[in-house]
Amino acid sequence: MPARVLDGQALSARMQEEIKPRVKAFTVAHGRPPGLGIVLVGNNPASEVYVRHKVKAGSEVGFRVDLERLPDTATLKDALALVERLNASEVHDGILVQSPLPKAMGSDAQQRVFDTISADKDVDGFGAESVGLLVQNRPKLVACTPAGVIELLEREGIPIRGKHAVVIGRSDIVGKPMALLLLHRDATVTIAHSRTPDLAAVCRHADILVAAVGKAGLVRRDFVKPGAAVIDVGMNRVADEATASDLYPPDHPRFALFKSKGSLLVGDVHPEVADVAGALTPVPGGVGPLTIAMLMMNTLTAARQRVGAEHVDAVGPRE
Ligand code: NAP
Repeated sequence: MPARVLDGQALSARMQEEIKPRVKAFTVAHGRPPGLGIVLVGNNPASEVYVRHKVKAGSEVGFRVDLERLPDTATLKDALALVERLNASEVHDGILVQSPLPKAMGSDAQQRVFDTISADKDVDGFGAESVGLLVQNRPKLVACTPAGVIELLEREGIPIRGKHAVVIGRSDIVGKPMALLLLHRDATVTIAHSRTPDLAAVCRHADILVAAVGKAGLVRRDFVKPGAAVIDVGMNRVADEATASDLYPPDHPRFALFKSKGSLLVGDVHPEVADVAGALTPVPGGVGPLTIAMLMMNTLTAARQRVGAEHVDAVGPRE
């Protein structure tokens, strides 16, 4: 039987609808909407698209959203000063700095900027204090993509406690926080990476397999225990026909889409996994849309925490 499709797009839309009345209630109670400050440095085309989506989603749920732009020539000092201004702002509850920052700012600029965001307002959860609190299982705000995966697993009724989870990828923004969130929900967690020998054999132990690698179709049928839940975080733009035809047969609608557009967005999980897995997130339409929904959730949580209305919402510590 083919895997149950875990529809992240539908869940994201539902979550954003759920947030709206809560935003309205906050606005009535506090005389202002929750506020999100988005910092964009330079004109990276992909960042422009991501930021546009975030501004749109925030405005639609009823937030005040301010896009704060700095030119490509801005210095690290300029970026830090802007973050400090937003930290001090009464009307901004959440701050996010869109990455990447211009290379000229230096290799450690990004983390320095993230670390300067007040942990109360760190809606991306990338700052050192936010990460430390997550490690200790007393998070304030958690990185949106892994938080979205947990939201999806829980709402889809996929058990985590006592299960073996394998996370492929150990990045600071996805792999590590993902592993910690699963661990704090009592999964036994293995983190695999590029130096893991016999990756397929390691993954075959997983009841929950999360792929956060960035390699199209890496996870094949033989990586997956029959019935496992497979979460595909990967977002890879495939532009060569050999890779596209390795993923889809010539008569598949996705292959036809590749032929007409010249490229295709695919995940880290090969489509053949649908024959073995019990549940599977599609790409597109799986984890991606949940990231934005969690950003909305985090901003509302930050606003409510700042006014003392709640301790931890959404992906809080385990009970
Ligand atoms: P990253 O920083 O490049 O990390 C990739 C990880 O995968 C690294 O830990 C790397 O291992 C591991 N890896 C690379 N090749 C491997 C292999 N052959 N076998 C096993 N592990 C391997 O990437 P990221 O930022 O975590 O993102 C991962 C993917 O998720 C990307 O496709 C990205 O576009 C996507 N993403 C999606 C969303 C969303 O909203 N859906 C959000 C963020 C990221 P080493 O540590 O040993 O190098």
